[in-house]
Amino acid sequence: MSIAGGVDRAIERGASIGCTAIQIFLKNNFQWTGRPYTPEEITRFHAAVKKTGIAVFAHSGYLINPCAPNPKLRERSLAAIIDEIERATVLGVPFIVMHPGAHLGAGESPGLRLVAKTLDTAFRATKRSPVRIALETTAGQGTCLGHRFEHLAEIIAHSQFPDRLAVCVDTCHIFAAGYDIRTPAGYKSVAKQLAALPVVAFHLNDSKKPLGSRVDRHDHIGKGYLGLAAFRHVLRDRRWRNLPMSLETPKSADLHEDVANLRALTNCLI
Ligand SMILES: [Zn+2]
Repeated sequence: MSIAGGVDRAIERGASIGCTAIQIFLKNNFQWTGRPYTPEEITRFHAAVKKTGIAVFAHSGYLINPCAPNPKLRERSLAAIIDEIERATVLGVPFIVMHPGAHLGAGESPGLRLVAKTLDTAFRATKRSPVRIALETTAGQGTCLGHRFEHLAEIIAHSQFPDRLAVCVDTCHIFAAGYDIRTPAGYKSVAKQLAALPVVAFHLNDSKKPLGSRVDRHDHIGKGYLGLAAFRHVLRDRRWRNLPMSLETPKSADLHEDVANLRALTNCLI
């Protein structure tokens, strides 16, 4: 949900279309730095959360790459992660969804270790914060890590702060990465693997690209290659019942696409 006009505005937008959970960026997602929140903005944010009861979680900026082989880029990423954790702490947002990053040729195994190392440095610098980083399952474009569930498990295993790590499942990404959740048998097997991870949230997106394409293109619910059956499986699974889930589908300012997608998801429960 857009934070244009202040982080508190995202909650208003969510409430206006009946959301019970929303995902926000903590600052402009295409820039390294952002303006600090004003005290009034923080007060309004807390008041809006209290009034609406909406569960809010965050997504990190797109420039961050915790396993960038270039030390300067990695330093910048680290500073940005720390800044985002501090922002989430002030807002009382429990976790930030983050893509594990791209190893850019360094190799998967060294890349995964470097992700854990960079995040550990960030956790050490924000020791008193309860904010967790939820590693997102990815489609596996290029050298991006996180397209195998084992990657996420390995990062957590390497970390000295495993309690501050969690997982966010993106339905479009796992499908593009080759995990088929359209059939009951396929879903059962994939969900069993996911249940072994500390899953704290879902991104519910259909996919414009076929199974195993390794291409990340979100589509409206029920309009892509995943189809409604996949969402029925996820939404009817008791294991995820209390987890916040968000759409990341194309939308315009009046949010009519979100309304249609939410309706399609609600219908999966009937
Ligand atoms: Zn996502």
